[in-house]
Amino acid sequence: MSASKSPAFMKYFLPAANQRRKLLEISSRLVEQVLQKPEQFSLAFSTDSGEIRRRVEAYDFSAPVNAGKVLDDVGEMLQQWSLQCGHPRYFGLFNPAPTYPGILADYLVAAYNPQCGAWHHSPFAVEAERSMVRLFAGEFGFDPDSASGHFTSGGSEANTTAALVALCAAFPEYRDIGLRGLSRQPVFYASGESHHSLLKIAQQCGLGRTALRLVAVGDDLKMDCTVLQHMISDDRKNGYAPFLVVATAGTTNAGIIDPMADIAAICTAERMQMHVDAAWGGAAILSPEYRGLLAGIGAADTITFDPHKLLSVPMAAGMLLTRDGSMLDKTFGIDAAYVPDSPVGGWDNYQRSLQFSRRFIGLKLFLTLAIAGRQSYAESINHQFLMAESLASLLQQSGWQVINEASLGIVCFTHPGVDAGRNNAARMVMYEQISNKVTATGDAWISTTRLAGRPVLRACITNYRTRLKDVQRLEKLLARAVRKVFSRA
Ligand SMILES: *Cc1c(COP(=O)(O)O)cnc(C)c1O
Repeated sequence: MSASKSPAFMKYFLPAANQRRKLLEISSRLVEQVLQKPEQFSLAFSTDSGEIRRRVEAYDFSAPVNAGKVLDDVGEMLQQWSLQCGHPRYFGLFNPAPTYPGILADYLVAAYNPQCGAWHHSPFAVEAERSMVRLFAGEFGFDPDSASGHFTSGGSEANTTAALVALCAAFPEYRDIGLRGLSRQPVFYASGESHHSLLKIAQQCGLGRTALRLVAVGDDLKMDCTVLQHMISDDRKNGYAPFLVVATAGTTNAGIIDPMADIAAICTAERMQMHVDAAWGGAAILSPEYRGLLAGIGAADTITFDPHKLLSVPMAAGMLLTRDGSMLDKTFGIDAAYVPDSPVGGWDNYQRSLQFSRRFIGLKLFLTLAIAGRQSYAESINHQFLMAESLASLLQQSGWQVINEASLGIVCFTHPGVDAGRNNAARMVMYEQISNKVTATGDAWISTTRLAGRPVLRACITNYRTRLKDVQRLEKLLARAVRKVFSRA
């Protein structure tokens, strides 16, 4: 190969401008198909893994394939074999329909590829993220001038960061010597309804899963603080070192908010750290109508909040906020000689977070906020909560029992005819049948879960495009499914 000639791979890695435009047109057409009419894709699709693997494994990468053809093929597979979370009747887990500015942000970020690990390399990106951190820290009741934080891949990474920060705050020797430097085994507390990421985190921090003490919830599904207090006292008596309580503000199951003021009082009295996992519920802070639900959250030492849920930005975007801004540096501080220094006051994320190389995660939130304004977020959150409240009242009118108060967009419900005379195992079988019948229509998607052990159906609205007619449609599909299940029972 002559050194002056462009190598062959170049036309694939970086095609000529006219060819790029063509490929972008194909991609835009695929994007428009899912944005214009997500309902055209069935929520009940073939999950024959053999068929999917045959299609994927048809690519053996032995020779180049026409780029337009590959894009079309990948588009078709994305359409055919993904649960379309942007569908207005996907009443599922916390996966949103993404905003268009959020989609554009990911495209721009991929092309400019700013390295957000070091301020020196990407001052705009780092400062834009810093402005988001300051905005949300202030909203949650921290002083933005002394608070700090960063973007994460999601709630799991944010919760992991919070656990490491709390360990370093409670046991300064933990950072350098690790757990073996401690005379007592650290333990921490969260409600039995808290997120499962905490178990993995206990393991990752070297504490082991049993270091997570799951506190019983009351009938209201909130952490029982009397039980919490007893568990802490017992653990101290038995030689353990309680260091952290994780309050959940919006449980994954049912949107339940733990009593944050009571937990804060216990943490102060016991000299323990307090973390609030508001991955889901934190978005309510942007709604003047609902922010009161989060009263007391500002007493936390650290907060987890996921924009990739109710703020409708594409995955992956979480945030970790700390009240005391120095804690991140104390936990993660490191000095890499090969990274150019940033000016005084610049933020070097590689020195204050788990990530090193870092994507400009915050642009999707920055761009959506800048274009739409925060009032639009208030409206969107209110709309999603209103849809859940409408669903709850429709269900109640037609004989269902709503178990939570449509808390933060989630409706958990049961049927008296299912529950009567059956144990939990038999109830779960019937709720699974009902949810499967609804989902099999391809026209709506819901799921089941257990609330403190009790089987329920669960419908969640994480879609700013869901309308009243979609909620009404779900109620009809549920009524039909129940009739069918009973006619066979
Ligand atoms: C979603 C969620 C998490 C996990 O966040 P990921 O973004 O999925 O990593 C943690 N806690 C709560 C309460 C959540 O709702």
